[in-house]
Amino acid sequence: MGHIIYLDHAATTRTAPEVAEAMLPYFTEYYGNPSSIYSLGSAAKKAVMEAREEIAATLGAKTNEIYFTGGGSEADNWALIATAEAYAGKGKHIITSKIEHHAVLHTCAYLEKRGYEVTYLDVGENGIVDPEDVRRAIRPDTILVSVMFANNEIGTIQPVREIGAVAKEQGVLFHTDAVQAYAHMPINVDEMNIDMLSASGHKFNGPKGTGFLYIRTGIKTRSFLHGGQQERGRRAGTENVPGIVGLGKAVRLAFSNMEEHAGKERKLRDYLIQRIEKEIPHCRLNGDRERRLGNNVNFSFRFVEGESLLIMLDMKGICASSGSACTSGSLDPSHVLLAIGLPHETAHGSLRLTVGFGNTMEEMDCVVEALKEIVEKLRAMSPLYEDFIKKQK
Ligand SMILES: *Cc1c(COP(=O)(O)O)cnc(C)c1O
Repeated sequence: MGHIIYLDHAATTRTAPEVAEAMLPYFTEYYGNPSSIYSLGSAAKKAVMEAREEIAATLGAKTNEIYFTGGGSEADNWALIATAEAYAGKGKHIITSKIEHHAVLHTCAYLEKRGYEVTYLDVGENGIVDPEDVRRAIRPDTILVSVMFANNEIGTIQPVREIGAVAKEQGVLFHTDAVQAYAHMPINVDEMNIDMLSASGHKFNGPKGTGFLYIRTGIKTRSFLHGGQQERGRRAGTENVPGIVGLGKAVRLAFSNMEEHAGKERKLRDYLIQRIEKEIPHCRLNGDRERRLGNNVNFSFRFVEGESLLIMLDMKGICASSGSACTSGSLDPSHVLLAIGLPHETAHGSLRLTVGFGNTMEEMDCVVEALKEIVEKLRAMSPLYEDFIKKQK
């Protein structure tokens, strides 16, 4: 492959070489089962314990409140399904938002089929949930509020602390899908009133298929996988030791350079936004300008098809993502873009660029130039654009 400009860090990130290196010995040297008594096993057990301690410390949590999972989707499934089951005696009502990741939305749909009732809160056109809407939605039979920390498409950061405070005041549990936020910004579960939190390793230069669920002490939960006694009997299966070691290493790297990384990303993001807004007509920035992830750029370009845009960017070696058919095979535009009020046509012409470790200013210049050329080319082929220009004259 030639030079790739990778601008899809919200989808996944490159595993840091230090992470891969830290993992290797746990495949070939310390391959013992952490549950075994002999020292080969205890070496693995110790590594798992250290990763758990490391992660707990970053959240202000206790070590035994961290449960390793096979990624963010599993953590979301666990948080919702196990809580729903454990608290069914209190009620069967769950509150979430319309802009959640499918790992939450499709789990809610699953629960609805099993007799639970779900309220999907609207968001404003800036893509932010109003904590007062959460308050209004809470009923005596509400058992859980699940609102994401930061949105994966438009990058909006939710008022998590305030939503958590409302839930706490009403005696309702609060879960947040923090997959896009964890290890990118500081999070404290006590200060932010978070009862459960999902995170995923591959969104911050860790290995794919790794992640964790934080569950506050005292919360009732159910075993998510049945079998052995791993993860305090709640998630059976021999630990993914190399993955957990890699996850711990990625956490260490992310937290030791957090401010520097975030600063660099914001600079690239702001430069992209500024140039695109200035140099490409008929575009619109999606999501809140201020309360947004430091790495997220999301634009809609009128008279352009997101899919075509992606294909033409790919021909230039640029990896990006669009708000249409993001789950490939589907022709529906993104539920997030529809939730912030974009008409179908506009949502279809959306592009997400998410910067990350290793991106440079030169790459941003390349991308803007490519984008200008491609948008112009695609518009030249659009009959709608032709009509629009005629009417303007
Ligand atoms: C990527 C992502 C997930 C899923 O995480 P996996 O580790 O890929 O299962 C869940 N929620 C959000 C917000 C995400 O961005």
